[in-house]
Amino acid sequence: MYNFSAGPAILPQEVFAEASEAVKDFNGIGLSILEISHRSKEFQAVMDEAVALAKELLNVPEGYEVLFLQGGASSQFMMTTMNLLGEGETVAYVDTGTWSAKAIKEAELYGNVNVIASSKEEGYDSIPKGYSVPADAKYVHLTSNNTIFGTQFQSFPDVDVPIVADMSSDIFSRSIDVSKFGIIYAGAQKNMGPSGVTMAIVKKDFVAEPVRKVPTMLNYNTHIGKGSMFNTPPVFPIYVSMLTMRWIKKHGGVDKVDALNTAKADLIYSTLDNSELFYGRAKKEDRSKMNAVFLIKDESLAPAFLEACAAAGCNGVKGHRSVGGFRASIYNAMSIGGVQKLVEVITEFEKANA
Ligand SMILES: *Cc1c(COP(=O)(O)O)cnc(C)c1O
Repeated sequence: MYNFSAGPAILPQEVFAEASEAVKDFNGIGLSILEISHRSKEFQAVMDEAVALAKELLNVPEGYEVLFLQGGASSQFMMTTMNLLGEGETVAYVDTGTWSAKAIKEAELYGNVNVIASSKEEGYDSIPKGYSVPADAKYVHLTSNNTIFGTQFQSFPDVDVPIVADMSSDIFSRSIDVSKFGIIYAGAQKNMGPSGVTMAIVKKDFVAEPVRKVPTMLNYNTHIGKGSMFNTPPVFPIYVSMLTMRWIKKHGGVDKVDALNTAKADLIYSTLDNSELFYGRAKKEDRSKMNAVFLIKDESLAPAFLEACAAAGCNGVKGHRSVGGFRASIYNAMSIGGVQKLVEVITEFEKANA
């Protein structure tokens, strides 16, 4: 089976093998990873390695902490603003899709939200350009990859304020200059692990000054101070995310993975561009290397195409309910062979139906 699901999503087979072994007997200690204390030296080593690998793979500079939190990326929509935006202060948002819109809705609970650019009118088929961040904005929030609409920031804007970014669906897919960011957050279940943990890379200075009273669990400083162990962390999702990071490192790091991601995306988009029947939904220059969203000219053929995908072992190609059509999520763990298989299905289907 080739898993093109958007999330929870594909992980490397060797990660599954190792993780299932650890459920039975973790590192040969005779106990499952699921039953040991999060304060044991065995789990502390997992946490330490997860933090160290994230820092190494993303070249995280001094002054930042890597946290493993709960509540999903959706909780970060609220937690970022709650910790960063004082009463009467302003934040700038770039609105590029469903997840951005949800983030904006939460931010509005805490301060003045200025949506400085949006591609909503165009059905979120692109990434806005040519906007500027007003001087009164404390930071700018953006969604680096739009999982549902298949668009992605190819580079990040040069702005005078820190960027806060939701990188849920493209974390570890490419190198980034972390120093541009105040906070980066990512739900694990797209490109780094199972659901249940959210990674946050937090610039410590940026959250040091309290802007209001914040409940203990929702305060970044609590988790910075306790190394993500203020309470019981999501032990197993952190472990599996750590194994995925090890796998990325073993395969040459984020730049190597990026080169493969580019090759996979080129393969699928060039097939779509040469098709009479299918077409990519997003503007070419803003296409996502993680989620290829495409449509079919003759909608009545859609069910037959999905059947052809299923018959070829290509799972999860159905588009998001709000967009329709198809979506091939080609995260880090998707092999080029998997993409070749899908391209074969597209080409054959086209031959039979165009
Ligand atoms: C899936 C997704 C989310 C939501 O993540 P949860 O962990 O389910 O809250 C947020 N942002 C983006 C970009 C996503 O792809």
